[in-house]
Amino acid sequence: MMFLYFLFWCLVDLGKLEGYYGDVRRILEDAGVDIGDEVEVSVNGEIVRGVLIWRYELADPGYIVLKLPNGYNIGIRIVGRNVSIRKIASSVKPSFRPPPKPPVVKGLPEVVILGVGGTIASRIDYRTGAVTPVMSPEDLFSIFPELSTIADIDTHTLFSLFSEEFTPKEWAEIALKVNELIKKGCDGIVITHGTDTMGYSAAALSFAIQKPPIPIVFVGAQRSSDRPSTDAATNLVAAVKVAGHAPFAEVCVVMHYWYSDDVIAVNRGTRVRKFHTSSRDAFKSVNSEPIAFYKNGEIIVNRRDLNKRGNHEYLFQPNFSDKAVLLKFFPGMKIDILEHLWKKGYRGVIIEGTGLGHVSARLIPMLEKMIKDGVFIGMTSQCIYGRVNMRVYSTGRELLRIGVTPLDDMISETAYVKLSWALAQTTDIEEVRKIMLTPIAGEIGERSIPSRRCGE
Ligand code: ASP
Repeated sequence: MMFLYFLFWCLVDLGKLEGYYGDVRRILEDAGVDIGDEVEVSVNGEIVRGVLIWRYELADPGYIVLKLPNGYNIGIRIVGRNVSIRKIASSVKPSFRPPPKPPVVKGLPEVVILGVGGTIASRIDYRTGAVTPVMSPEDLFSIFPELSTIADIDTHTLFSLFSEEFTPKEWAEIALKVNELIKKGCDGIVITHGTDTMGYSAAALSFAIQKPPIPIVFVGAQRSSDRPSTDAATNLVAAVKVAGHAPFAEVCVVMHYWYSDDVIAVNRGTRVRKFHTSSRDAFKSVNSEPIAFYKNGEIIVNRRDLNKRGNHEYLFQPNFSDKAVLLKFFPGMKIDILEHLWKKGYRGVIIEGTGLGHVSARLIPMLEKMIKDGVFIGMTSQCIYGRVNMRVYSTGRELLRIGVTPLDDMISETAYVKLSWALAQTTDIEEVRKIMLTPIAGEIGERSIPSRRCGE
């Protein structure tokens, strides 16, 4: 942990009174003091010594923050009080020098860590309190040297984006890069990715690279790598283990199974959803159990129907269309939304309907018009678990009659990604429908399983 703190201190650019402004900044400038300097502050006759450190830009502007010799930080209000500040010693301004790469242990599998961004490759900005992407996979590797005992690791940064910025174009770029790495030859690939849309990207890779010869493992972190509470290390170690050593070659998401660090779940890329905004056990498999677990340094395989690792042929089709839409039905929804999508030339809509797969009967004439015009309309459910069944109620039967396609137990995000992929393969709406209903990467299940077995 000390190492993390060291790294943090080294990474942050010292000086320039970052986070200080207004009267406080003027007082500090008049005293010739900069961040990192050792200072003596006398407030109303009381003397405090410490090192001036950065502060949150958004916090109360009247304070300075000192790190005391005992390691604690304190805030001292200096505006409006009888204060004098004196510099005792200037700071030594260190710069970041990554530690040397740990020696390669012979005979370990080769794993590439491919960075595409997110919290796992971020650090907190202590000026604003925001988390910004800056750390490269090389940095991650230098922070978690134990990775070198699991695999012979190479790192590569493709981009450094928060995952909410991703579009189908980024999915295609990741697929192209992963294909290039497979062709070059390695035993597994770990993709460090923002958690918010990681499920979408994992689904995208599942369709773009079908039955891959090696594991393609997505991993993220709920807390950035420079925080003491980070989950990045445990997730990353498990991900590298799965990428390098798992007997299966699946596109998967490797994240904490529950709040404790002892079990990490390996979720199928087409079956996984982020359930929690901040907790480390945010990811759950939906309508499916995790395909494996990582526990006590071992991989425990949980399913039989997994694609085996090996040098076999695989299907590579990295194109995605940006003419697909995912739309959640809500009470009061009007046809103008559908009309807009139709007029804008969208070629497919996944509607996340209510319960067994319904929308208001008011929308049916517009949906019929769209379908007749060659727009694919697929139905998923807003319920987390279970499958759509549109034969039970009259509205569902009417939706079936006009040609809405029920998408079984596919989760909505996966259905959207699959539609984006299908629309890039063909312009024939019947062909799109066929693709949507054919299981490709475990996205459609034959039997329903109770929610508690999904990792609830
Ligand atoms: N908003 C971030 C992202 O998805 C959160 C994270 O990195 O986990 O990129």
